[in-house]
Amino acid sequence: MTDVSAEPNGHSLAVEGLTVHYGGVCAVRDIALTVAPGESMGIIGSNGAGKTSTLKALMGLVPRTHGRISLGDKDLSKVRARDMVRHGVGYVPEGRHVFPGLTVEKNLLLGAYHRSWKGETRQTLEWIYELFPILREFRQRAAGDLSGGQQQMLAIGRALMSKPRMLLLDEPSMGLSPKLIEDVLAVLIKLREENIGLLLVEQNAKLTFGVTSHCLVMENGSVAMSGTSADLAHDPRVRQIYLGL
Ligand code: ATP
Repeated sequence: MTDVSAEPNGHSLAVEGLTVHYGGVCAVRDIALTVAPGESMGIIGSNGAGKTSTLKALMGLVPRTHGRISLGDKDLSKVRARDMVRHGVGYVPEGRHVFPGLTVEKNLLLGAYHRSWKGETRQTLEWIYELFPILREFRQRAAGDLSGGQQQMLAIGRALMSKPRMLLLDEPSMGLSPKLIEDVLAVLIKLREENIGLLLVEQNAKLTFGVTSHCLVMENGSVAMSGTSADLAHDPRVRQIYLGL
């Protein structure tokens, strides 16, 4: 089991021994990691390496065969997907999944479905609009009319409506132009400054090394390498396979 972490603290996300099977096939084997608030960790790897399955298992969206998951002193190992959000873990799925026929604001409000106090929802919406001025500008537009990058901002904004301590993001750069990728990266850096922990799954290793402090490299469901992003970016094997250098 490999553990890669910055210094853990009281509100860290900690994962040990996370394992996922689909039928008899092991897709994720014995993953361990720790993400502290305000820290960002990346998981890179090629197609089918098990990155998405790791995030889905963390969220409870696919069954976990084994594994312990905690956030601070809360044990989340048995928590179901719909309750993870209440426990402070947000999730931005691969492919964004915004509701194209609903306005930007209605999409955002869906992210606060578990809140009962309307005043708090309003405050959070204001915080999202400060983070993403473009969403305020387009708040009455149908989400389907936004560009891919704007929809990615919306998907991130919707996940933030639950005020998560940890945000899991699955391939936020997918399908975006280099300029829009820059915009998304700028947002991730802002979130770190807000002391939110980030766990970022990406095929784009260069981008990931630029925005994370630590990384796991997954191959065939297991952690093949781990370390600081700076060290991995200089590793000859990583440079050849994942950076194409
Ligand atoms: P990509 O970057 O292409 O999204 P990934 O690293 O995220 O790949 P996963 O999607 O987690 O990889 O897939 C890991 C393995 O599990 C693959 O072999 C995949 O075919 C398999 N797999 C994923 N989802 C399921 C499922 N629902 N049922 C059966 N097998 C699955």
